[in-house]
Amino acid sequence: MKRVILFGAPGSGKGTQAEAIEKRFGYVKVSTGDLIRAEVRMQSKIGLEVKATIDKGELIPDHVILGLLKKRLQKDDILNGYIVDGFPRTLAQAIELSQMKVDSEIAIYLKIGNESVIVQRLLSRLTCPRCNAIFSMINNPPKVEGVCDSCGIALRQRTDDNAETIRNRISIYREQTKPVISYYREKGMLMEIDASLPVESVFKQIEEIL
Ligand code: ADP
Ligand code: ZN
Repeated sequence: MKRVILFGAPGSGKGTQAEAIEKRFGYVKVSTGDLIRAEVRMQSKIGLEVKATIDKGELIPDHVILGLLKKRLQKDDILNGYIVDGFPRTLAQAIELSQMKVDSEIAIYLKIGNESVIVQRLLSRLTCPRCNAIFSMINNPPKVEGVCDSCGIALRQRTDDNAETIRNRISIYREQTKPVISYYREKGMLMEIDASLPVESVFKQIEEIL
């Protein structure tokens, strides 16, 4: 089983690239953001507890996200391999992940130098509440304005994709998530790519690596 870890700031394109990798290579996209938003939508106990934290742009506790991830990885659709999108976000999460054994593993760092690119991408992002597909009003518009290409239902803007929360998410990324980069670099697992380019060019770089 192969594990591809997609790493990068909010708005670096992890979710979009994970979708593309899934289509091309058949590894399954496992997004901790999608898992936690599903809980919020279902208004489960966990969902109700974490809603405010997500809307502030803060990280939810390691044990909560880890519980959701472990449950998801019990499904056997991942046996060929899976892509983790949005995890690990702390060093503690990275260490937990390393204990879930796989045959081969790579971490791809979607690097973006210019913060205004991130903000602009997040503000123009739309997602499908049913299949979690990601679109952008600017870079990657759906075929019909405001409607999911596969489900045909109305796309939504995430409640955490507003200017104030975005600012908070970026600073939390810098403080808590960036240290994870050195962890993977020291393990010799890290591949860095330029994620400020258009979606297709970023994917080409990923294809060459995989
Ligand atoms: P993005 O990468 O665009 O910021 P995600 O969809 O990955 O967004 O995550 C949205 C929110 O879900 C995060 O801001 C955080 O509150 C929560 N979350 C997702 N993954 C994790 C994680 N691994 N650890 C803690 N919180 C997480
Ligand atoms: Zn959809």
